[in-house]
Amino acid sequence: MQVDAYAITAEGQGLEPFTIERREPGPEEVLVELMYCGICHTDLVVANNESKQAQYPVVPGHEMVGRVAQVGEGVTKVAEGDLVGIGCIADSCRTCDPCHAGEEHYCNSGFVMTFNSTNLAGEKTWGGYSSHYTIHEHYVVKIPEGLDPAGAAPLLCGGITVYTPLKRFEAGPGKRVGVAGLGGLGHLAIKMAKAMGAHTTMITGSPNKIPDAERLGADDVVLTSDPDQVAAHAGSFDLIINTISGEHDVNAYLPYLSRKGVLCYVGAPQVPLPLVMGLLIFGDKVMAGSLIGGIPSTEEMLEFCAKHNITADIEMVDIQDVNAAWDRIEKNDVKYRFVIDLGSLS
Ligand SMILES: [Zn+2]
Ligand SMILES: [Zn+2]
Repeated sequence: MQVDAYAITAEGQGLEPFTIERREPGPEEVLVELMYCGICHTDLVVANNESKQAQYPVVPGHEMVGRVAQVGEGVTKVAEGDLVGIGCIADSCRTCDPCHAGEEHYCNSGFVMTFNSTNLAGEKTWGGYSSHYTIHEHYVVKIPEGLDPAGAAPLLCGGITVYTPLKRFEAGPGKRVGVAGLGGLGHLAIKMAKAMGAHTTMITGSPNKIPDAERLGADDVVLTSDPDQVAAHAGSFDLIINTISGEHDVNAYLPYLSRKGVLCYVGAPQVPLPLVMGLLIFGDKVMAGSLIGGIPSTEEMLEFCAKHNITADIEMVDIQDVNAAWDRIEKNDVKYRFVIDLGSLS
């Protein structure tokens, strides 16, 4: 079936109305009528070809929430009318060890992204800046009762991206967690780390971020421009989640870690960053990276968010205003995630 979407058709172009083909749901597949799609920075990086991966035309979007409109033969996970989410993962082999372990994003056959990717049948994937999505039932997750569907959309990529390392490195009572960068990822990291029971600190160079960090639940803030505050927090964090995707000094963050502390990256600067190894060696410190999370973890994260009433702070936009929203993201001018109201497509 032909459905409405927005696409970038060539490098250097803006997003414009575009028509795509979605297949009728086959066996074990569902057709989701999309309501909302979050705008993640990765949409811009890929679709603007900053990462040299764009396969034009590109329909971006990988933070989708909608209702199941139609189910194919043999679908058991969801029913027509269910509120569901679709994140980064559109497909994987479902037979290899990582897939069996619920880490579909590390599928040995390569996981299929929900946009700008090629599925296992060799078809191009079109993302969530569109009215519908057809997908195998394994990759849809139910949105728990009580979560605002628009605010839940950014949880499907942004939320799981920070939830995974917070769980992996055991954020919780008695632990001290620092969050660097207050954007789409950082604001969710603060909310989640706090809800897990960790002492949560915002690490920032901008005094104007202090009130928001505290409103979001941070116990305190380290202002990196204040040498006294920097000295006072040296050696104090068990874990720092670094969400900064721009060029920055990695070495400035390592002294904040306690012995054996972990500096985990979830933002990916597009340029190599120099690292002073002595800062790792003295103190047995660890640098780590973390990529989204699998489907079972995404379901667990959504339950956690429902229990603690966590959604993203969003600014809703119509699809017709999406280019302006992208411009504002480039200027870091959003608190903290744009979500497209896909009702505006029709
Ligand atoms: Zn994303
Ligand atoms: Zn696999």
